[in-house]
Amino acid sequence: MADRITSRCPCACCRVRGLMGPLILIALGAIFLADQFTRFTFGDLWPILLIVAGAVKCAASLSSRTGHAGV
Ligand SMILES: [Zn+2]
Repeated sequence: MADRITSRCPCACCRVRGLMGPLILIALGAIFLADQFTRFTFGDLWPILLIVAGAVKCAASLSSRTGHAGV
């Protein structure tokens, strides 16, 4: 177990940080959907990406690093 110090750290902080990519993709998809089907355009909604990224950063910094593997 201890020899797996690659990207698979089990601590809460690293797991939350791992959600950044998927959440950005989900937000991007939702924004393009809204662009397509509502009167809002991508130009109106792009700041949602910053909000999602900031929220993930906040959650990661508040998460426990107990059991953190690696630097
Ligand atoms: Zn970690």
